[in-house]
Amino acid sequence: MVIGAGVVGLAVARAMAARGREVIVLEAGEAVGIGTSSRNSEVIHAGLYYPRGSLKAELCVRGRAMLYEYCDAHGVPYNRCGKLLVATARNQLPQLAAIQQKALENGVTDLVRISGADATALEPHLQCVEAMLSPQTGIIDSHQFMLALQGDAERDGANIAFHTPVTQVDARDRCFIVETGGEAPLRFQADCVINSAGLFANDIARRIRGLDPRHVPPLYFAKGNYFSVSGRTPFDRLIYPMPNEAGLGVHLTIDMGGQAKFGPDVEWIQKIDYSVDAQRATGFYAAIRAYWPDLPDDALQPAYAGIRPKLSGPGQPAADFVIQGRAAHGVAGLVNLFGIESPGLTASLAIAEKVARMLSV
Ligand SMILES: Cc1cc2nc3c(=O)[nH]c(=O)nc-3n(C[C@H](O)[C@H](O)[C@H](O)COP(=O)(O)OP(=O)(O)OC[C@H]3O[C@@H](n4cnc5c(N)ncnc54)[C@H](O)[C@@H]3O)c2cc1C
Repeated sequence: MVIGAGVVGLAVARAMAARGREVIVLEAGEAVGIGTSSRNSEVIHAGLYYPRGSLKAELCVRGRAMLYEYCDAHGVPYNRCGKLLVATARNQLPQLAAIQQKALENGVTDLVRISGADATALEPHLQCVEAMLSPQTGIIDSHQFMLALQGDAERDGANIAFHTPVTQVDARDRCFIVETGGEAPLRFQADCVINSAGLFANDIARRIRGLDPRHVPPLYFAKGNYFSVSGRTPFDRLIYPMPNEAGLGVHLTIDMGGQAKFGPDVEWIQKIDYSVDAQRATGFYAAIRAYWPDLPDDALQPAYAGIRPKLSGPGQPAADFVIQGRAAHGVAGLVNLFGIESPGLTASLAIAEKVARMLSV
């Protein structure tokens, strides 16, 4: 039983069905990927930023390789366009060097450090003092990817029940009773439950009778707003500033339709709210003009927002993904996925592989 049909739940469902398990995905919404999976930058990350030995580092690097291979095999549109990580002031150079070192430790060996002049030769509108070129970074049509995962899972016998919000789970000895609400409440029995409900995973875990609540970490919401740019941007590659405490900085990403977007910023919120406040444009102009000084006035329009399910609050050091199985909480057959923020899209196939391994013993 997989709770949630986001990119991670779908990847898990596919992996389990491919291993011959009978799989049902319970999804509260009306379609796949209506949560964070359709509210992100759609970037395939190379794996530069995460501490050595972390799940984020391991699963991003492995997941990226798996994802490109998967896209080739399934005709999912992507573009390995590369990205420039830019230092716009000399005092950012130590941070650039530290990221390069981290990337090397994570096995990302193809980064190229280039001068500001060489960066401007590649991207004439870019201003920076130095940059790092990441050739493995790309963009993906995340919706097509999710449809492909759904197709694979269904071909191998998985079923997805939409409009089926999980309300409660009873963990008994090697058996779970899962109750759902909505218009037609149901009860299911399962021998394994994978809690992949994204922003609601912690909430659901607290409703699992038989799971000690001490194993459920607190969750914080960090909203990331995006603004789109009218017309074509003059950049061919993704442009990233230095990361900040809660995100990767207001970067330029381009979707497969050619639409350029800037974001996400960081707005700590208490309640889920996807509206974008047009007033935040002021902060965006300032952040973007640090590397694209000719950004025209009035070029930005509010676009959309996503919300990061964060296990670390404001001012706290960044937390890793938590993939919690029996060894951590003592409940056989239960895997909780907590804090699956970026790079969760890139890492999804590797997360699924890991979950399937945890449940095969
Ligand atoms: C602003 C932002 C930018 C990002 N950019 C990138 C990026 O460029 N590259 C990258 O690799 N990653 C990125 N990420 C991370 C990536 O988007 C997520 O890690 C990934 O989408 C998480 O997928 P998921 O399946 O865990 O969660 P979700 O997509 O949120 O899916 C969870 C599903 O569970 C369902 N659900 C919730 N409650 C219940 C219930 N009670 N019963 C049944 N179903 C329920 C929801 O409806 C939803 O469909 C970004 C994230 C954010 C917020």
